[in-house]
Amino acid sequence: MKQIPVESTEFRAALLAWFKRDGRKLPWRETADPYRILVSELMLQQTLVTTVVSYYQRWLERFPTIRDLANADETEVLLAWQGLGYYNRARNLHRCAKVIVAELKEAFPSSVDALIQLPGIGRYTAGAIVSFAFDRPAPIVDGNIARAMSRLLDLQEPVDQPPGREIIWDLASRYVQSANPRLLNSALMELGAVVCLPRKPLCALCPVRSFCRTTDPESLPRKNGRPKIERKSEFHFFAVKDGRVLLQQNPGKRWQGLWTLPALPANSKSAPSNDAPAPSLSLSYPITRFMVHLNVFLSEPPASVRAGQAWHRLEALDALPMPSPHRRAVQMALQRSWGI
Ligand code: SF4
Repeated sequence: MKQIPVESTEFRAALLAWFKRDGRKLPWRETADPYRILVSELMLQQTLVTTVVSYYQRWLERFPTIRDLANADETEVLLAWQGLGYYNRARNLHRCAKVIVAELKEAFPSSVDALIQLPGIGRYTAGAIVSFAFDRPAPIVDGNIARAMSRLLDLQEPVDQPPGREIIWDLASRYVQSANPRLLNSALMELGAVVCLPRKPLCALCPVRSFCRTTDPESLPRKNGRPKIERKSEFHFFAVKDGRVLLQQNPGKRWQGLWTLPALPANSKSAPSNDAPAPSLSLSYPITRFMVHLNVFLSEPPASVRAGQAWHRLEALDALPMPSPHRRAVQMALQRSWGI
């Protein structure tokens, strides 16, 4: 089979030399502990490196070992994750810890096949743990690697479709079949993250420029298009009684177990008509392909509370796991009501 640039010895050597010299020193690159690698990888999904660093360090102070995490209760776990969003990642991390401690007697799986049996672990995360923690040649493909690979190979297949995706995974697999898989995967990710940027890639500074086949990097990777952002409105109310605020613990998938402002009863949240009162405060936040407009009405305390609702003391709110938009809405409502 014809050799492609990314599997030549010279390509790997050039990339590794650059990475050893210029790669960022990130805390999860200083460890081969699979638990720490798992924590970092789940945090890094959908969250920027600069944000993750402090969360990662705080998390390991709170749950230094996988056993500490397995023994924690879900409220503690969600509270430690608060601010990172996409709370399913925290629940999956917690479930993984329980499985590894209780069922696998703390023997961390070391193969891709075994790891993808764990809750929330896909092909990418399994490959990251196998290569970063066990230094075995497992491929990984994230957005940075897909972009760099498609440019290096001048790949015209859309990388968000199955054929293009498989080509990239195959390239990543062939690239990592060599000594130092841990460093090889880290170096390729770093190339995509800091040099082969989505816009204005730094080709003049690129350590593997001589291997790169594209003449129009900004046109790659090709994609068949992103789903359109949809707008969505949510309606909640804020009520305080005797220094306590009424909150609702969520049963739903998105924020399961987290506390939010209670939703307005169904018959009050129809689209506001011209004579409907305006919400007391509004804020917007993005989640997956939605832009959500959170509308909050300051309200009198209801005569009775519904299932899942409870009054919480204001000074105890910091210890409750709450999604960031609702915590912000509570702070805004308190300011609006009492200037707190
Ligand atoms: S030369 Fe430019 S496009 Fe090619 S890999 Fe390097 S940074 Fe990316």
